[in-house]
Amino acid sequence: MSKPSAPDHPILFIPGPTEVHPDVARAGARPMIGHRGPEIGELLRRTLARVAPVMGTSVSVFPLACSATGAMEGAVRNAAPGRFLHLVCGAFSERWASIRQACALDGDVLEVPWGQVHDPGEVRRALRAKRYHAVTLVHNETSTGVMNPLPELALAVKEQDDVLLLVDTVSSMAAVELRLDEWGVDVCFAGTQKAWGLPPGMTLCAVSPAALRRSAQAPGKGYYFDWVEHQKYLDKAQTPATPAISLLYQLEAALDRIESEGLPSRYARHRAMRDQVLTWAQGRFPPFAQEGFRSVTLTTLRGNGVDLGAVLSAVRKRGYVVGGGYGKTKGEVFRVGHMGEITPSLLREMLAVFDEELATLGGPRS
Ligand code: PLP
Repeated sequence: MSKPSAPDHPILFIPGPTEVHPDVARAGARPMIGHRGPEIGELLRRTLARVAPVMGTSVSVFPLACSATGAMEGAVRNAAPGRFLHLVCGAFSERWASIRQACALDGDVLEVPWGQVHDPGEVRRALRAKRYHAVTLVHNETSTGVMNPLPELALAVKEQDDVLLLVDTVSSMAAVELRLDEWGVDVCFAGTQKAWGLPPGMTLCAVSPAALRRSAQAPGKGYYFDWVEHQKYLDKAQTPATPAISLLYQLEAALDRIESEGLPSRYARHRAMRDQVLTWAQGRFPPFAQEGFRSVTLTTLRGNGVDLGAVLSAVRKRGYVVGGGYGKTKGEVFRVGHMGEITPSLLREMLAVFDEELATLGGPRS
């Protein structure tokens, strides 16, 4: 069998940043416009209207000029005061609690072991036992490769009065169906560099009317991420500060691609890629994530005694960049990202190279 030819640039099978299609890359080179002139309003209106179905929402979506961590901090500050409950199942869900602490706000952590998802029953019990004002969740925990049962968890939160649900869908949005309005999610966001298939630098953040009401009362919420101010500007199709204009152009180009593929087909492609990696790994690399809740955008596999550093470096030399572990799982697992522009055939190509390098290093064969 002939060896797959090397790609023209290192292909990213990491859980973000991800591959950017040439049409999307080129869109970023369009001439600049002023951010207070008429063109920006048209660009924002037509682009954000097309983002809404991807998020399953009719509430305001702010195009924040920051990475997702900025939106996390904004969400925490605008949901204050009161007590936060952080549902922690990995490094990014831990980040919510770190941000809240850094903002000198009150809260508790409800933690499950890494690789597991949250149980709606336990969340319900925690919310009944103590008064909370906001719950934070990471839908798709990128450090462990689990996808939490968002609709069921949202239901448990919404049974309580006046509790905001703040959800990080950073590595699931645009790869998985979201129905934010139906589920009652108050704040939800994703950075552009994951399944959207854009370069990093912008975060799309949906904010519900209830979250805006809370924001209006929030003391010490800061300046850059004041949701009330963002809403005031969005009402006139602007942003409070200069937006990431090139990324908005690129978002339009990405939406062309997403719409021409069709959302149901896009979601099915992501599910198929998850199944493809799990089948490839069977009998060799045990999945780290809980069965039934394995992410469709990245698959986290235990190294099973293989020298992961050596194999990942050999695969990288062949032009394919696969992710290592993150945080506590460093050295123990590897993470195969398969989102956005990655296709089953690209994935097949990379897995074949992985197998060849593994065989050279004397690792387990398929
Ligand atoms: N949340 C999740 C689930 C992530 O995967 C990441 C980054 O990988 C972040 C938050 C932080 O995003 P950023 O580094 O873009 O701020």
